[in-house]
Amino acid sequence: MSPPRLRFAPSPTGFFHVGSGRTALWNWLIARQQGGQFVLRIEDTDLERNREEWVDGIRVAMRWLGLDWDEEYRQSQRAALYGDAMLRLHADGHAYYCDCTRADVDGRNVAALGPGAENRGYDRHCRVRGLTPGAGRPLRFATPRDGITIVHDIIRGEPSFDHGEIEDFVIARGDGSAMFILANVVDDVDMGITHVVRGEEHLSNTPKGILLWQALAPDVALPVWAHVPVLVNAQRKKLSKRRDKVALEDYRAMGILPDAMRNYLVLLGWSPGGDREILTVDEMTELFRLEAVVTSPAFFDMVKLAHMNGEYLRALSIEEFVEVATPYLPAGASAQVDVFPKMAPFVQERLRLLTDLPNQVDFLYNDPYAWEDAIASCKAPVEMLDGVLAALAALPGATGTEVVPQAGTGTVHSPTVVVGPALNIATESATTGWSAAEIRVAVETVGAANGLKLAKAQGAVRVAITGRTIGPPLFEAMEVLGRAECERRLRLARARLGTA
Ligand code: GLU
Ligand code: ZN
Repeated sequence: MSPPRLRFAPSPTGFFHVGSGRTALWNWLIARQQGGQFVLRIEDTDLERNREEWVDGIRVAMRWLGLDWDEEYRQSQRAALYGDAMLRLHADGHAYYCDCTRADVDGRNVAALGPGAENRGYDRHCRVRGLTPGAGRPLRFATPRDGITIVHDIIRGEPSFDHGEIEDFVIARGDGSAMFILANVVDDVDMGITHVVRGEEHLSNTPKGILLWQALAPDVALPVWAHVPVLVNAQRKKLSKRRDKVALEDYRAMGILPDAMRNYLVLLGWSPGGDREILTVDEMTELFRLEAVVTSPAFFDMVKLAHMNGEYLRALSIEEFVEVATPYLPAGASAQVDVFPKMAPFVQERLRLLTDLPNQVDFLYNDPYAWEDAIASCKAPVEMLDGVLAALAALPGATGTEVVPQAGTGTVHSPTVVVGPALNIATESATTGWSAAEIRVAVETVGAANGLKLAKAQGAVRVAITGRTIGPPLFEAMEVLGRAECERRLRLARARLGTA
């Protein structure tokens, strides 16, 4: 058996859809798995809806997913081939020209079949008229009157279509340009395509494609088809760009890693079996089977995608993590490039989307602000802050109390964001008494004295240090921030609480 040839045939009518990503990936996997070729065919014959930037978007998206292609074609450059096909189909009696208006057809249908027979479809009126080509005359395919066409579909079995239900469909417009179905089939024949893997919305057109194929190239073996299941949102509605985030680019901007995206996409309607989910490219190439794809709609689950992305983030080395995360750091970070790497291991453990990174680490670069609500939810904030300040001052290496908030001014109470150089991130080592372990003991001890378990005891401290009630591990964060900066923030927070 000669190696298979597959194609991905997107129309550049908008941003690259995640469903297109899955279709491209599945085609690519079969081609690579079976030592075949993978063709990119841009179906850009609809000049009004196509834009050049979207053609580029297709290539960029595929490269981002790690999908390479062996050949590339554009339908807009192949009009001559479609013109030849029209001539041949007409000459062979497989197609005929038609000059009917919609009103003509409706009128005849009603006359023949009674009221309500409008929209019955084309009545084959011109089939025997022998019209010559001319402006405004579309070319129609002469569908056989009897019989059925069976689609051999790897996923859907053998759906069959009654020819009586297929009208004499238009294959070329009145201006001589090819309709989608004609260009699509001419190209599949010409490119030697052996497997057509595409969205299920194309299934109903497939019998027309088969009839055309048999008329155009009776000696060329038909491809096998695989119509892949539709993607739906949480409400089980088809993913649409009006309702849902569908552009691959949006997920990329959110900080989904390409490896995570590819892994997530491969599982939309297919599973390698068991509860296995994390697959390398090599593993999915080996394991993927169209035969195992389901027909039911596949739920595009953002929560699961984010979870999977978290797994991929955690699997990175710390150097790789710092590299992919750095573009997502908040304002002020670029002035202190050595800070994030120290915090990175603690953030990496829990992050799912890189766009959540600023929430996790902005305290490293900016004074906590807008924290009044946060502190209000904390237990014994005055006692905890006073106690922790004293306990930290008692740790070895303390330098006294020279770090004080700006005395008695309005600035203490107004939310401020201080960027970069105002902060002084230190680099004490554990031997100076400033380590996560020692800070933890200090907070735990003060908490116990106030009847609070650690989880509650650290609340006020966390808010004073980070401005938030949740975030990365607090004591590690404090170690990274350094003693002077932590004491400054604790005092600032304490001053804001007033003389309670
Ligand atoms: N150009 C079609 C689309 O974007 C794909 C047709 C096909 O794969 O056969 O939906
Ligand atoms: Zn007609």
